[in-house]
Amino acid sequence: ELDESQLPDADVTVAVDYSTVNYKDALAITGRAPIVRRWPMVPGIDFAGTVQASPDARYKMGARVVLNGWGVGENHWGGLAPLACVPGDFLIALPSPLSTRQAMAIGTAGYTAMLSVLALERAGLRPEDGPVLVTGANGGVGSFAVALLARRGFQVEAATGRPQEAERLRRLGAGEIIDRGALSEPGKPLQKERWAGAVDSVGGHTLANVCASLRYGGVATACGLAQSRDLPATVTPFILRGVSLLGVDSVMAPRARREQAWARLAAELDAAMIEAIAAREVGLEQVPELALELLQGRVKGRVVVNPSM
Ligand code: NDP
Repeated sequence: ELDESQLPDADVTVAVDYSTVNYKDALAITGRAPIVRRWPMVPGIDFAGTVQASPDARYKMGARVVLNGWGVGENHWGGLAPLACVPGDFLIALPSPLSTRQAMAIGTAGYTAMLSVLALERAGLRPEDGPVLVTGANGGVGSFAVALLARRGFQVEAATGRPQEAERLRRLGAGEIIDRGALSEPGKPLQKERWAGAVDSVGGHTLANVCASLRYGGVATACGLAQSRDLPATVTPFILRGVSLLGVDSVMAPRARREQAWARLAAELDAAMIEAIAAREVGLEQVPELALELLQGRVKGRVVVNPSM
């Protein structure tokens, strides 16, 4: 329990309507990785809420805002609390028609999936170039990547370790479902050309095999390390097939790119799709257990946290 007077000294006070538990939050909460840089810490790398007090002219009282990253929940108190106090530069106005609940159903995972799609598009990838692979497809980033790419007209193939969830992935727009085991072991440096593009949130041998299987001129994005932080690959696909690997970071992404990503999320995801990915809502008490479930790969899609539940 914290007193309001203990909130950090920053300009905008936000009543947190919803937060969520991301992979990074789960690592922080369980202590499995040194995510928290300063103690004591309120975790939660993202939140959506309503401005309560703001000397910053950009945010009027009652404005709906969303925050992703910027080190919140790592070195600045985060969103897993009913109130947050943050610099105005960390916030962006939540585009309509998204509600604050929907914003956190999307969360940093959906926003990162959109950053990945934007990166593929900037690299010139088009649906007619061929199928696109999404790894970690039943996770948060993966589920949204499947939905967003399918919505843009891409033929989406989904790699997952949970084949029992194949129907769910098909409803999101996936065509072929691939057993993630086929990608997670060491493979040849150059393999059969399969995908024109890929969104990877897994890293490790999976990403190495994805790069080795991209079509000539293909492009993959890398944002995560659910399998491993290592990248045991060779330069062969890069120098013989001219493939590209694009890094995606949500934490320090510039403001213009955040606004573009959120505007596209608001325009391209309908309420039913968001609900299909994140139907579950929990209170703060359930967060430690949820963090463990997430790291054990038992969470499907996304879970929103309601701090007043
Ligand atoms: P989730 O836990 O929701 O999903 C991760 C998925 O990865 C799992 O559901 C599982 O998919 C797959 N997976 C887990 N373990 C393994 C393994 N050993 N081998 C292969 N696949 C595995 O996490 P998120 O989607 O929220 O995040 C995914 C990754 O992206 C994390 O590493 C996270 O830190 C990172 N991330 C990075 C961001 C950035 O700014 N760069 C922003 C957001 C996330 P399935 O069940 O389908 O097999």
